[in-house]
Amino acid sequence: MSAQSIQETHHKRFGTQGIAYQAPGRVNLIGEHTDTSEGFVMPAALDLRTISVLSPRSDTTANIYSVNFDEQISLDLQHLPSRRRGHWSDYPTSVLWTLEQRGIRPAGFDLTLSGNVPLGSGLSSSASVEVAVAVAVLAHAGTTLTKPEIAKICQFSENNFVGAQSGIMDPFTSCCGVENHALLIDCRSLEYEALPLPSEVLLVICNSMVKHSLAGGGEYNQRRAEVQAGVKILQQHYPDVHTLRDVTEEQLRRCESDMAEDIFRRSLHVVTEDERVLAAAAALRRGDFEKFGLIMHDAHISMRDNYAASCLETDLLVELAVRQPGCFGARITGGGFGGCTINLVAAEHADGFVRNVRAGYEEATAIQAEIYRSCASDGAGPVA
Ligand code: ADP
Ligand code: MG
Repeated sequence: MSAQSIQETHHKRFGTQGIAYQAPGRVNLIGEHTDTSEGFVMPAALDLRTISVLSPRSDTTANIYSVNFDEQISLDLQHLPSRRRGHWSDYPTSVLWTLEQRGIRPAGFDLTLSGNVPLGSGLSSSASVEVAVAVAVLAHAGTTLTKPEIAKICQFSENNFVGAQSGIMDPFTSCCGVENHALLIDCRSLEYEALPLPSEVLLVICNSMVKHSLAGGGEYNQRRAEVQAGVKILQQHYPDVHTLRDVTEEQLRRCESDMAEDIFRRSLHVVTEDERVLAAAAALRRGDFEKFGLIMHDAHISMRDNYAASCLETDLLVELAVRQPGCFGARITGGGFGGCTINLVAAEHADGFVRNVRAGYEEATAIQAEIYRSCASDGAGPVA
């Protein structure tokens, strides 16, 4: 998928030369279910991305063509829709809708979108589309915003127009990613630090191809409610607590007898996960991938046993992974109940890793896992 070929597609369709931008998908290395408690996460931007190509028009129409869906929609920028349609175009439209609320009203344009982030696999194709649209349209409108501001616009768009309760991590990583680095993000202050993740260590993502969550993410919302219940109980003892970010493991354990076991365990996952992210960051600063991998494994066990958001298939992928030579660590990544695992693998062992994990998984489940490899990549911007 080259920017040049998408520019050619754009030219054939719209008859004009466009400028190309890109925005990556992301994977979370560690820090699961901590963002909604204003805690710490550590994602990396992937070299899977959405490319957007934009050329100006002389009217107030926005034509948006998705190569992936082979479909074009047309909007009147003076009368943008105010509601979602349940269609892919909700994602680009949502960004225009938010920009308009912020007083940013671009002139008409033609836009082509093409992505190789797998759709709906938890690698955030949605944020990559939103960010790719935002950077193209902002440049077209002559408006300069900081990357964190663009990320907030995209999160607002997805939350309030598309209607998905996604966090800041996805658009933030797509905007602020740094080549050969993971990002340690404080989800409360949005301060972040790029930590070295050299290209000798590959991010290998194994898609279990299963999703056990109920329609509408029932379990996901239940976990959030359990964490909220934990916070309420903690606040009776510690009035200054706003979220689990403010709680130490010792404080939580002191309140254990006041909590139902499930509430305690969900809270314990979040509180200890924040600690693990900080310990993992310290390991990366030292270049200690062995230690980083051990912490990833602890994080997986906590997702499985305390947060109860893993499943047989992702547990199996992790078990297979940690037995492979050159695998530093493996864990479930994303919301849970299926989806993907993230594995840190020495580049020279990646071929064998992929072969063996794929074969072992298929033998046990009769499912063919999709496996993607990536190094940590730069965030969104114009394509050079
Ligand atoms: P994820 O973000 O994990 O990939 P989501 O369900 O949040 O999954 O977002 C996937 C949706 O984003 C797709 O169903 C589609 O509507 C939209 N999308 C992603 N990539 C593209 C693209 N290249 N063109 C148009 N829409 C896209
Ligand atoms: Mg998404």
